Amino acid sequence: CGIVGIVGSQPVAPLIVDALKRLEYRGYDSAGVATIEKGELARRRAEGKLVNLERLVGAEPLAGTIGIGHTRWATHGVPNETNAHPHFSNGVAIVHNGIIENFAELRDELRADGYEFASQTDTEVVAHLVARELAHGAKPVEAAHNALKRLQGAFALAIMFKGDDDLIVGARNGPPLAVGHGEGEMFLGSDAIALAPFTNAITYLEDGDWAVVRRSGIAIFDMNGDAVERKRQQSLGTS
Ligand code: GLU
Repeated sequence: CGIVGIVGSQPVAPLIVDALKRLEYRGYDSAGVATIEKGELARRRAEGKLVNLERLVGAEPLAGTIGIGHTRWATHGVPNETNAHPHFSNGVAIVHNGIIENFAELRDELRADGYEFASQTDTEVVAHLVARELAHGAKPVEAAHNALKRLQGAFALAIMFKGDDDLIVGARNGPPLAVGHGEGEMFLGSDAIALAPFTNAITYLEDGDWAVVRRSGIAIFDMNGDAVERKRQQSLGTS
């Protein structure tokens, strides 16, 4: 239900958890955060209130200067730790808002290809789709774009790759998603409120857009893979 991503310059897990708190108003039943720690994906997830995730991250800190976080409002699969996002597949980490309408068909296809599902969510198909593209030789950005083309339904997504700690791919088709512009660090969030502590220079993606977010800058593309220009706005305040 809420998404935050940071390609940053300091440990991001506490920042992501704080930003998720700003999205509590949207409602949620569980939450999670993932980073790239010493070249590996690492995550903490917890059912219930964000304070549960906060305690977990306090007790078992996550290192890493890149990360994605999520508050989940379950649509497919009960609210528990296993179904909480981020979902992983072979070095790919994903958070998702919305519903993948064709998930059952994609899940059958991926199972037939040997992919095993750890959760009951519709979201997990996206992680495996991207991982399969990588396994077929695609580079991360291309893998994300190819996977996005297979999805039907409403989604805001953030995708992180173990093999590239300077990259988050964001995508929007329905639920809102904005990118935030910093100095040597870049951000992604479900709305301007989540990004307010970091930057007030934001760009909302339009439906069908996807973004390549790196420390050096952000590029936005349409579903054909053509670069598009979207207006940068000043959000209200940085409180
Ligand atoms: N459909 C996804 C799930 O049930 C995402 C729900 C959400 O928007 O939080 O896990």
